[in-house]
Amino acid sequence: MKTIKSVYKIGNGPSSSHTVGPYNAAQVFKSRYPDADAFRVTLFGSLAFTGEGHGTQKAIKSAIPGAVVVFDREKGNLPHPNTMLFEAFKGSTLLGSNYIYSVGGGSIRIENEESDDEKEVYPQKYFSEILKICHDRSLNLAQFIGRMEGPSLYGYLQTVWEAMKDSIHRGLNAEGILPGGLGVAKKAKILFEKRCYNESADVTMNRIIAAYAYAVSEENADEHIVVTAPTCGSCGVLPSVMYYMHSERGFPEDEILDALAVAGMIGNVIRTNASISGAECGCQAEIGSACSMTAAALASLYGLNIDQIEYAAEIAMEHNLGLTCDPVNGLVQIPCIERNAVAAMRAISSVNLSRFLFSTRKISFDEVVATMYRTGKDMDEKYRETSHGGLAQIYYAN
Ligand code: SF4
Repeated sequence: MKTIKSVYKIGNGPSSSHTVGPYNAAQVFKSRYPDADAFRVTLFGSLAFTGEGHGTQKAIKSAIPGAVVVFDREKGNLPHPNTMLFEAFKGSTLLGSNYIYSVGGGSIRIENEESDDEKEVYPQKYFSEILKICHDRSLNLAQFIGRMEGPSLYGYLQTVWEAMKDSIHRGLNAEGILPGGLGVAKKAKILFEKRCYNESADVTMNRIIAAYAYAVSEENADEHIVVTAPTCGSCGVLPSVMYYMHSERGFPEDEILDALAVAGMIGNVIRTNASISGAECGCQAEIGSACSMTAAALASLYGLNIDQIEYAAEIAMEHNLGLTCDPVNGLVQIPCIERNAVAAMRAISSVNLSRFLFSTRKISFDEVVATMYRTGKDMDEKYRETSHGGLAQIYYAN
């Protein structure tokens, strides 16, 4: 497996696979052809169907000003649902071309080239292998990750944490209507400030965590800077719970960074053995993964053992299985923003169950990840970020 750092990418929303990935691809391709005077980028599959709403064209043009971006909604049998063809020209001469795939979480893969530029850090591929090492060597998960990744990890996680907090603070102070034409109002500030009459402590906790999740997700929808965790669409889940635990429950930052490392490993296992791309496996791969990462992070923060952490992550994913990706208008707004808040609360419930029931579990984390992947592959294409099914269709039918 690669470094867990690559699960967390800092970039502009609203979509890791539709803005961060294409932006990175455009930068890499442009750097290969310094003599080119024109570029053409053709978008296929999910990028062609929802790229407009997700801002793909804008992301590419910010990396290659003047690039011509073409949407090809006809071509089938694609090697990946987020396929792009980059071409560089000098005059009328084609200097070169590359198929580049946006594989989720802002990562890219270039055709016939070895993966992306992230080096392999872990010989292990499955959580079961890591679990065994931790048991054999009496390590907790954060200690294992720290040993494998080396000292640079925590500096990176600190930067990630600062970016997460910034997105919460900005989102809580933002008002107005999100771009894209759906007329969706920003709600984080209202949620944060409007205490109900006679509000119980539990309701307050849920309201504040939801406000944080809305804040980050609205910043994402507004095309501002967020951290993929593991994607832009699901970027509000992990920071909301971590920031609540830090600011309201007093967990220190060094423990938050350990929790982010644990969450990163969960995202890494999912990305390696399944997918974190909504276009490939539906929203279960995005929100399901974020929920799973957050449950593991919180379990780690609470000092639960590695079996309890694994079970928390498994529960969180299991009950997101089958979740479809059907963003209305191709915008990462409905159902995405609200879904981040609900997933944050579900992650907390998963930890509460795992604390008591981990010794009775039957399904391993690796098994639920494999199930998610198969379910995603079985899912009709219209539920995989094409905006051709679900809410995306019903909204206009009504
Ligand atoms: S429905 Fe889920 S997977 Fe699809 S764009 Fe929204 S958050 Fe991402």
